[in-house]
Amino acid sequence: MALLAQRMTQLGTENAFSLGADIQRCTERGLDVIRFNLGEPDFNSPGPVNSAAIEQIEAGNSHYCDPAGILSLREAIAAHVAASRGLAVTPDQVVVTPGGKPSIGYALQTYVDPGDEVVYPSPGFPIYESWVRFVGATPVPIQLSEDRGFAFTAEELSKVLTARTKLIILCSPSNPTGGVLSGDDLSGIAEVIRRNGRPDLRVYSDEIYEDILFDGVAHRSISSFGGMAERTLLASGFSKSFAMTGWRLGYTVLPTPEEAAVFKQLNINIISCVPPFIQEAGREALQNPEAHEASAAMCAEFQRRRDWIVPALNDLPGIRCRQPKGAFYVFPNVSAACERLGILDAFAALPDDARQRTSPSRILQMFLLYRYGVATMDRNSFGSLGAEGQHFLRISIASSVEELKRGVERIAQALEDRGGLESFLEEETAWQ
Ligand code: PMP
Repeated sequence: MALLAQRMTQLGTENAFSLGADIQRCTERGLDVIRFNLGEPDFNSPGPVNSAAIEQIEAGNSHYCDPAGILSLREAIAAHVAASRGLAVTPDQVVVTPGGKPSIGYALQTYVDPGDEVVYPSPGFPIYESWVRFVGATPVPIQLSEDRGFAFTAEELSKVLTARTKLIILCSPSNPTGGVLSGDDLSGIAEVIRRNGRPDLRVYSDEIYEDILFDGVAHRSISSFGGMAERTLLASGFSKSFAMTGWRLGYTVLPTPEEAAVFKQLNINIISCVPPFIQEAGREALQNPEAHEASAAMCAEFQRRRDWIVPALNDLPGIRCRQPKGAFYVFPNVSAACERLGILDAFAALPDDARQRTSPSRILQMFLLYRYGVATMDRNSFGSLGAEGQHFLRISIASSVEELKRGVERIAQALEDRGGLESFLEEETAWQ
């Protein structure tokens, strides 16, 4: 007899949320924790967006509404996606969800049977791997290489694409690497899919960071390439572009109205609908130029922070950090830092079961948090299959430059503290 259904053993998590317990423990011990673990803008939602929601609530627009999303928002989304990707999109292809996240689980439940293969980027958003396992599919992570700017390449894809591949997940700009797929990358990927993909293969293109791009680069979507719109689920939302993480508002553009009807049915089964006043606020965000100006100003600030932090990290011993092209994370390679601090040796000396539960970058992450009050994310928080031997941290730049400076100073001190690391490993058990 078991209380929980067998399938629940397969469900993963997003450690950016579950790290909260460790941070709280550190805070209770009196540590002032600098939070570089967060995946949300440190800005508030734009004024006109806030006003729109308040007005709608006061006008009584607080009842059930269309489970697919209110028509005015679906029209605004269709217009936005059509204009920015050069596609013909109709509102009956659009389904609105509470945040961008539900759409990942919806896609896995809609298209994938046990035994089907799902290709996804690793490192990548952890919810992909979680849902792949939950539905009993075979996970096929493509390990993104630092040398190639963490790009998901056509060559790697063609090596793993089989007759069993049912879904390919792309994410550009990427969480956690900040990598961006160029037009050439996307065109090559599209070519491989057209040539070798089965006819009912779908692409899930996670474009939630579409507005956070640096150096004047324009957003590109796989759906704009020949033959791809009819196979692609284009997922995006308001959390990142308009700093609306807590509003919970996202959407998916599906290849056909029939497929959109399945997503709508999932909404009916799970949430009924997204609150209509939230959706009106989202429509305002898409249509109000002031909201777009706020989004562009936020992105410019992220670029300024990136330009500060990348050289600062590269000046630290044992850290090598590439320049991200989008999103609001840097993803430094910390292999040499782990080596210098003795973490690689300490990890190798752990008993088998302890080694299974941790990794060198997690030891470094926890040392930085518990001893230096800097919260970061470790490599394995972004997909653990095949990640052995990869040592990276994700640092969110959704903090002011002053805060970034304080954090980097602490990391610099930690990297010199080999004795501190030894005593941390001997004395500290709370995080394990
Ligand atoms: N996709 C990616 C790549 C993300 O980073 C996130 C949020 N961290 C989401 C989807 C989910 O976004 P939301 O908060 O709108 O559910």
